[in-house]
Amino acid sequence: MKAVRLEGVGNIALREVGKPSAGPDDLLVRIEACGVCGTDRHLFHGEFPCTPPVTPGHEFSGIVEAIGTAVSGFSVGDRVTGDPNIACGRCPHCHAGRINLCHNLMAIGIRRDGGFAEYVVLPQKQAILLPKDLKPTHGAFCEPLGCCLHGMDLGRIKPGSSVAVLGGGVIGLLTVQLARLAGATTIILSTRQASRRALAEELGATATVDPGACDIIDTVGGPSGLLPGGVDVVFECAGVRETVEQSMRLARAGGTVVIVGVTPQGIKAEFEPFDLLFRELKVLGSFLNPFTHRRAADLIASGAIEIDKLISRQVTLEEAAAVIANPPAPGEVKVLVVPR
Ligand code: NAP
Ligand code: ZN
Repeated sequence: MKAVRLEGVGNIALREVGKPSAGPDDLLVRIEACGVCGTDRHLFHGEFPCTPPVTPGHEFSGIVEAIGTAVSGFSVGDRVTGDPNIACGRCPHCHAGRINLCHNLMAIGIRRDGGFAEYVVLPQKQAILLPKDLKPTHGAFCEPLGCCLHGMDLGRIKPGSSVAVLGGGVIGLLTVQLARLAGATTIILSTRQASRRALAEELGATATVDPGACDIIDTVGGPSGLLPGGVDVVFECAGVRETVEQSMRLARAGGTVVIVGVTPQGIKAEFEPFDLLFRELKVLGSFLNPFTHRRAADLIASGAIEIDKLISRQVTLEEAAAVIANPPAPGEVKVLVVPR
């Protein structure tokens, strides 16, 4: 079969490899679509630990082609999405229900072969059934949506809450949609690209801000701003120092900041501990998708999340390595790899 192989830092190419087979507890899944994520680019540049040679791709879904002898509840021909993050189930974090913090986390597409290929091996405990009539491209969004759902759960939005989302990539744009579904009535998105601000307004943002063209703290929370005093919950979805610092200043007193964006290791951000104390801010990290993959799949199956507008382009496996090796094009939100 064809697979995109990361053979070392800066070395990625399409190769012909042996077609894998399902072990007793596995499904062999024919990939219908696999999303390109910032993490795939980090792997290529050696900025995120992985174990090459490996086939990247952790946002995938497809059709079950074969099942192992001990598999139950799945049949050949089923459409499934895979939660790529395999927790060990036996470390102190797993025993405490914090599976995203598992000591032995083994992610598909990072430490074992993933979805930029014709087929992937998926342990049955990581698989979730999708409707047969779902658009084949939509299942690839379950993983990023699951990560956003974890952030949403931590943010504890209530009907009527006010929300700011910093960063208008796919994570920010999914978070805007979840905030709307959770009942937030003010949803402000900050991102520099005008096309993304327009898209956010279509997807439920009540206002958008260009952080390059204004003082965002004043525009949002200033005395004559959109929400004087600040917002209830801020989702940092850009992963840069600037937005991390802004997030603490945009939250109202007693408000919550959820850090979803991955800032490069070693980056430091400034905040005033006095401000944190005096305004009783809650600052929470949100990592991966613990126990949210099924909910993400159900949300996508229900049609409650707009997916098509997030897909900027679809490429073949032959084009995938070049997409991963290059930065995203301006305006691009999500690129899907769709094997022919
Ligand atoms: P993305 O496409 O890179 O989106 C982030 C966007 O933030 C950028 O494209 C950029 O859009 C915007 N941005 C950059 N600087 C900004 C600034 N100063 N002010 C406002 N916006 C700014 O990435 P993504 O796929 O949506 O992911 C977002 C972040 O979440 C990444 O750091 C990713 O690694 C992380 N992530 C975390 C998890 C988790 O489990 N916590 C899961 C998946 C992804 P403009 O050019 O329009 O400003
Ligand atoms: Zn564990």
